[in-house]
Amino acid sequence: MRQGERGTIEAADFGDLIEAVPAIVYVAELGAGSLWHYVSPQVEMILGYTPEEWIADSDLWIDSVHPEDREYAVAFEHERYIDLASYPPAEYRMRRKDGEYIWILEKARLIRGEDGVPLWHGVMQDITGLKTAETNLRELARKQELTSHLGGLAMSGVSTDELFRAAVESLVELPGIHGATVRERTETNELHLLSAAAHHSHDQMPSQVIPFDPEGMPGKLLLSGNSIWVDDWEQDPIMSVFRKHLASPKVRSTMVVPIDGHSRQFGTLILNSEQPHRFGDNDNHFVRAVANVLSSAVERERIDRSTSHRLHHDPLTELPNRQLFTDRLEEAIEGATEVGTPIAVLFLDLDHFKLINDGIGHHAGDELLREVAPRLSAGVRQRDTVSRFGGDEFGIVLNGVTDEANAREIAGRVLDSLAEPIVIDQAQHYVTASIGIALYRPGIDQHRSAAALIEEADAAMYQAKELGRSQAQVFDKPMQDRAVERGNIERELQGAIERDELVLHYQPTISLETGEISKFEALVRWNHPARGLLGPLEFIPIAEESDLITKIDTWVLAEACRQNAIWNRNAVDGRSYTVAVNTSARQVRTRHLPELVQTTLERFGLEPAQLELEITESVLLVRTDRVRQTLAELNEIGVWLALDDFGTGFSALSYLSEFPFDTIKIDRSFVEQLGAGQPEGSAITEAIINIGAALSLTTVAEAVGTEAQLHMLRDLGCHYCQGFLVSPPLPAPGILELLKDPARSYLPGESAANQSP
Ligand code: C2E
Ligand code: MG
Ligand code: MG
Repeated sequence: MRQGERGTIEAADFGDLIEAVPAIVYVAELGAGSLWHYVSPQVEMILGYTPEEWIADSDLWIDSVHPEDREYAVAFEHERYIDLASYPPAEYRMRRKDGEYIWILEKARLIRGEDGVPLWHGVMQDITGLKTAETNLRELARKQELTSHLGGLAMSGVSTDELFRAAVESLVELPGIHGATVRERTETNELHLLSAAAHHSHDQMPSQVIPFDPEGMPGKLLLSGNSIWVDDWEQDPIMSVFRKHLASPKVRSTMVVPIDGHSRQFGTLILNSEQPHRFGDNDNHFVRAVANVLSSAVERERIDRSTSHRLHHDPLTELPNRQLFTDRLEEAIEGATEVGTPIAVLFLDLDHFKLINDGIGHHAGDELLREVAPRLSAGVRQRDTVSRFGGDEFGIVLNGVTDEANAREIAGRVLDSLAEPIVIDQAQHYVTASIGIALYRPGIDQHRSAAALIEEADAAMYQAKELGRSQAQVFDKPMQDRAVERGNIERELQGAIERDELVLHYQPTISLETGEISKFEALVRWNHPARGLLGPLEFIPIAEESDLITKIDTWVLAEACRQNAIWNRNAVDGRSYTVAVNTSARQVRTRHLPELVQTTLERFGLEPAQLELEITESVLLVRTDRVRQTLAELNEIGVWLALDDFGTGFSALSYLSEFPFDTIKIDRSFVEQLGAGQPEGSAITEAIINIGAALSLTTVAEAVGTEAQLHMLRDLGCHYCQGFLVSPPLPAPGILELLKDPARSYLPGESAANQSP
């Protein structure tokens, strides 16, 4: 075609050209359902109808338009007609003859025909590919936005519950997703519903619990760590066991994606659609990304929880530690002040735990503490806090007690909870505890800090120990003074030996047969520069709390032996005297005691029979190979072994035959009952003497104060006695005086007769 020539080309010349365009070209009358004059053959390729079919049915166009777009298409046709100038293009969906929908872009112009009637001259283009790409792109952007939104939310530290809710709620906003759930997998292989969201049309609630068989195929798939698709529930044979758990019968396809956990799968993220075949590979990528966000939030929460748990709990017993205890106590104090009900703090310390621990080994000691913890918790109420402070010390906050009596009662229950023996490695251990109680009574007591209450309970606990252990004591002010004093004593005692402040007094033991002195018990005193002469009960229990006691006992052993060597050198008529030395449980447990005894005897030139070791019953609290061996070695050396304070504590009768004791010392508490009026007062003493006789043990009565007691003891067959009636403990020079008259009988009534002129 040359330039300048125009308007002379016949329409027929365009026929080939028109048929080559990838679009339907048409000429039609105005209005929906009107007559089509021409439609190009592409109509068959694009919509599946032949041009003849299309032209024959003038309603075919409007009938094929997607029902949702029909109104728009009609209005558009109408508006275009009115606004002839602009001819904007239209986009709508049309159903092909085969039922599939495609997107159409339509452009048309009104052109008047020869008869002057306007006709549409238009082009309909298939833009489905473009449209899908566009939708995909938009969906991708939405998905990306969603994942990054959830990621941000997870980073902001919201709880996993909130995050799960946000996830399912945004997922159901995506096209074609009608329901979303997050489920947690339990130990018992159930999927528990944690969070669910549904599209409005899909309003039923999904099952709370979905059990599954981990061995079955669906269960294996669930746990495989891979995503699972159910393309169509109506046709899926494998997953059909789960069908009854679907939120709605309308669900046609489902996608299940694992949410990873720390050591095992945490759970699943499940998406449902009412369309079959809704989910594909591109969804997998995205849904897994969402599941990863959820999984890392779960993991973070787990770590947070375990870190905070570790910071606030004792690793051995899992009980709250002192820090958490103090926090809770502070809260309790505030609460108590507000509501006006008292609270109590219990400070609990196991009795003789050091002995037990040294005896059975630290590993078993730990085991024992682990056993004690739940018993204490079981002894109090849910809202009370039981804590391990460290070592064998525990604290308990009693929230809301009525009064002091109530607190005592609960403390008693806690003590009772330890009554049953604790079995470790098949050995039974009897554990007791001492409890200190501090009360805070709003309105009566001044407001007190957590630290002050714990300190008071601690001081009361010491008081309980001093009063004989295995009991509870309530704090009072003098107690606090004693606690302060105790601290001072402990400090000052450190250097007492070096400063030469310890002295020994000796108390004679006489034979109930001859009345003559045969032994002296060495009893330590502390010549305190400011307080004067202190008895052992004022500092020995404090020394027993630390290694100080072995230092003291070692000094006493040497000093008593040194002294006894002097007496024996000066003994009249070739007599021999024995010195009895008190030996703490701790000292008995030291490996080197037999060696120490041996070298001390040699150092002062004493015969083994000139030394007796008094060992308290508490040594036998935990009978270990160490104790057994030490006692056997001491017995081998030939020193006497006496069981002191017999009957007060722990000795089962079997201990007596199990260990090489020579002597039992009947505790003063039994002796004191002799002649006190009640006939049953003598029963225990009598029994002890009989046991001693049966086992060929020597019996010694302690603290004999009256002649009546002495006579009764002699009548009962007791061998020796010791007590103020005969002589109080005396400094060494006083004993030397007594020895000048060795044949003197100290038995009442006989003294005059036997006394030398
Ligand atoms: P223990 O071994 O049972 O000593 C007997 C206690 O009874 C002594 O008290 C003694 O003074 C007291 N006593 C003696 N006769 C009478 C009496 O007729 N009436 C009364 N009421 N009491 C009497 P002391 O000297 O106060 O010693 C107390 C405890 O301290 C001893 O009890 C012993 O367990 C411990 N102890 C004393 N010296 C030492 C020591 O060197 N090392 C160790 N580890 N403990 C010691
Ligand atoms: Mg003694
Ligand atoms: Mg005693």
